[in-house]
Amino acid sequence: MALKCPFCDFKSERLLSMIVHVRKKHRNEKRCPVCGYEFKDLLKHLAQNARGDRRHRYVYVLFSRGSKSYFSRKIRKELTIEGVVDA
Ligand SMILES: [Zn+2]
Ligand SMILES: [Zn+2]
Repeated sequence: MALKCPFCDFKSERLLSMIVHVRKKHRNEKRCPVCGYEFKDLLKHLAQNARGDRRHRYVYVLFSRGSKSYFSRKIRKELTIEGVVDA
């Protein structure tokens, strides 16, 4: 069971490693990996869609700061169910 980076082929077993990876490698990313559109402020776009959409929420958690402890378990469970997380 591994998490997959929404921006590239990087995979990790641990959500925290994925968060570190995304913040290091994809900090300046403009294109939303969920809808495929470019945004001037991707974080803002993700935040606006995080509540209603699980895939946006996942990317939002990877992108934003300080939300891992609150979200990680719940999100991972949801993503496993949704098939976003690779089996
Ligand atoms: Zn990546
Ligand atoms: Zn989007």
